[in-house]
Amino acid sequence: MLIDTHGRIATDLRVSLTDRCNLRCTYCMPEEGLRWLPKPELLTDDEIVRLVSIAVSELGITEVRFTGGEPLLRPGLVSIVERCAALAPRPDLSLTTNGIGLARTTEALRTAGLDRVNVSLDTLRPEVFRTLTRRDRHHDVVSGLTAARDAGLVPVKVNSVLMRGINDDEAPHLLDWALEHDYELRFIEQMPLDAQHGWQRGHMVTAAEILEKLRARYALTPEVSSLRGSAPAERWLVDGGPARVGVIASVTRPFCRDCDRTRLTADGQVRDCLFAREESDLRTALRSGASDQDIAERWRAAMWGKKAGSGLDDPSFLQPRRPMSAIGG
Ligand code: SAM
Ligand code: SF4
Repeated sequence: MLIDTHGRIATDLRVSLTDRCNLRCTYCMPEEGLRWLPKPELLTDDEIVRLVSIAVSELGITEVRFTGGEPLLRPGLVSIVERCAALAPRPDLSLTTNGIGLARTTEALRTAGLDRVNVSLDTLRPEVFRTLTRRDRHHDVVSGLTAARDAGLVPVKVNSVLMRGINDDEAPHLLDWALEHDYELRFIEQMPLDAQHGWQRGHMVTAAEILEKLRARYALTPEVSSLRGSAPAERWLVDGGPARVGVIASVTRPFCRDCDRTRLTADGQVRDCLFAREESDLRTALRSGASDQDIAERWRAAMWGKKAGSGLDDPSFLQPRRPMSAIGG
């Protein structure tokens, strides 16, 4: 098991498949992109599958989510999914993506064994999408979403980040649209993980504000079964249900006490938290012939020291060295 000194057990593994991306969301990376990880530093497909295999067979991981950067840019994605789906015990497999190219690959991903998908979409207005992501690809994301739903990768979840003065007026429209198309919408509070270090606490749109905007149109009741547990999203039934909406309030209502995550970066570093400033190198061990047991032991040691909280509320909080796109959101 991956247990820490606070008694939390990590069962959910986030695997970043690349730090590259074809969008430039303003809350994530600068217009010119970032200095991408050099190819030799990236884990190979075989190395990723081996680490996931160790995680499920030795360390109690039951859920694996592939992310990035943009995971659809990873050429071996379908085969990685297929090989992970063949592991015993078989983990639950999901993908977080910006949706570009999803319409083309969704069927192959489903056949390979992908169970679910989360697609990020912050706006229903193509021109706002262009401002927010600096690319004119709104249509591709919407078709990716439709394809995922039609292929049965359900529930299709939509992640939205609201930015003040840009798309914060869209909360109820996004919910109308999600209900109409049978997507489960979750708002994510903007976090201090952008490469440009432009995040300002006083400027971010808070969960309380989002809920207030939604309540102007819908009756929201906390989901009864939702003793939130380790789920990051607090969920509400919309107009009595069964439709739901979620808010991931990592900044104003952190869920660190119940966190069940462990993370693997595309270059083979274990992180115990999005906001951690330290990492543990598994790639070097992998490449110097370490046994599965040895690697599992390093992974356990990496998680054991996980801090109680993200430290966001501490005045001495420092952003991690890596931005979100290189950690794997
Ligand atoms: N490229 C994929 C995507 O956008 O879904 C996967 C990686 S992205 C880093 C994962 C999620 O993190 C997305 O839903 C994105 O909106 C969110 N994200 C990125 N930067 C963020 C930030 N500074 N605060 C909150 N969420 C952020
Ligand atoms: Fe790319 Fe996702 Fe970051 Fe947007 S949030 S720039 S899609 S990695």
